[in-house]
Amino acid sequence: MASPRRVPLLIDGQWVRSESDRCTPVIDPATQEVLSEVPQATEAELARAVASAQAAFQTWKEVPVPQRARLMLNYQHLLKQHHDELAEIISRELGKTFEDAKGDVWRGIEVVEHAANIAGLLMGETVENVASGIDTCSWHQPLGVCLGITPFNFPAMIPLWMFPLAIACGNTFVLKPSERDPLTPTRLAELFIEAGAPAGVLQVVHGGAAQVDYLLEHPDIRAGSFVGSVAVGKHIYRKGTEHLKRMQCMTGANNHMVVMPDANRGQVVNKLVGSAFGAAGQRCMAIPNVILVGAAQEWIPEIVEATRNIRPGVWSDAGAAYGPLTTPVARDRVREMIAQAKADGATCLLDGSDCQVEGYPDGNWLGPTIFTDLEPEMPFYCEEVFGPVLCILKADSLEEAITLINRDFRGNGTSLFTASGAAARKFQHEIQVGQVGINVPIPVPLPFFSFTGWRGSFHGDLHAYGKQAVRFYTETKTVISRWFEGDIPSGPNMSINLR
Ligand code: NAD
Repeated sequence: MASPRRVPLLIDGQWVRSESDRCTPVIDPATQEVLSEVPQATEAELARAVASAQAAFQTWKEVPVPQRARLMLNYQHLLKQHHDELAEIISRELGKTFEDAKGDVWRGIEVVEHAANIAGLLMGETVENVASGIDTCSWHQPLGVCLGITPFNFPAMIPLWMFPLAIACGNTFVLKPSERDPLTPTRLAELFIEAGAPAGVLQVVHGGAAQVDYLLEHPDIRAGSFVGSVAVGKHIYRKGTEHLKRMQCMTGANNHMVVMPDANRGQVVNKLVGSAFGAAGQRCMAIPNVILVGAAQEWIPEIVEATRNIRPGVWSDAGAAYGPLTTPVARDRVREMIAQAKADGATCLLDGSDCQVEGYPDGNWLGPTIFTDLEPEMPFYCEEVFGPVLCILKADSLEEAITLINRDFRGNGTSLFTASGAAARKFQHEIQVGQVGINVPIPVPLPFFSFTGWRGSFHGDLHAYGKQAVRFYTETKTVISRWFEGDIPSGPNMSINLR
């Protein structure tokens, strides 16, 4: 068999073959077919990428803001033209259904549209006459070379959360995508060059922990954005800040939906099934936990029945609700967690451990799985399972549900289903979670807001996209100015006051 095509690195505007002898295969999770291999870039390659980004910064930061915005408009246009093609690449390397993969691309395109509005976003502030004849204004200037480290589960959307806005702000960018699905970000970068990005403005390098550590220690990298698991996010935040980088780390989750008895029953069941099992539960905003309050507990048979009607399948199967898990290791981990939950005494209402998809015996399949009667300390409930699973929890009151959610150390997303404005008001005020849906199951904000995970789901001060990302990727400069008219005699000012 011919050796698979090696994923190239993008360094200084050229696609180059890495000289590394260490590679990991990129595998179709439905068939185990090796699609390509991804290299672990050498230190020399990483150093060249950063040096090229640093050199490109000197000219890119001087490019007028409207011209940078036009690059984003061109890019948005190309991404839309190649929407289906990008979705198919995602589906092949990650196994997402075609519709879900299209959504992954679309939510990234929305951020590029936001970046095209960079002139408005970069506006500073001015005050005339802060002292007699003295004015003050503030500007937002780019930082330099920024770094992005992205996870496997949104190979289009999450790189697009980062590099378009950073680059629109006048920075240059080094992207280190997930080693599990590098073909999508490679295509994103090709299209960015086709849109007119100058050489060196975007670099794409590959690898794992060693490559990330090297980049976080590099003195020329000013800021780092990370999206991934809790454990890795903590390490990256510590390492980056230790090396004096500005960091934003979006990490893992364990989200809950609360259902009040007055909620619309049909809507609850449909939205719950979609948000628990969509993308095989491999979303940071998935809902693996539902808390049924009071009489809503009578809806359990309906939830189980609706879940029985969905099934996994290959990306091109329009009837499939979701695809395979990312790797056999991920699938086996969830299977073990299911076995452990049974051993711990939880009640299994639906068991997807043994799941086959006809014609695809080697896929990393798992059927939808539902447990109830869980204790808070059981791993199946308190860890991020990241599979097609649902924990059904029960509460007597909204207060009890809020307490349960606020006890979790993570706070990425949550939602409440109710017909009561008072209940909604109480929930959205008291819940210690950064993204709240009211009768909306997966409240991922559009890019003119920011992605605002809280507590253990985020480390840093400024969040991804929206106005906050523009602050993250820029430095504020304040200019205080006075212009003398004629020769006005004055003595030295010995105080700190503006005069
Ligand atoms: P991961 O943490 O394993 O990997 C993320 C990135 O970090 C990858 O690029 C990987 O190569 C790199 N990496 C892995 N180990 C490293 C190490 N020891 N040192 C330095 N870099 C390392 O995450 P994943 O499995 O790819 O993605 C799934 C996780 O991401 C889930 O926990 C999910 O909740 C989370 N996620 C969070 C958000 C969010 O916005 N909060 C969004 C999507 C995914």
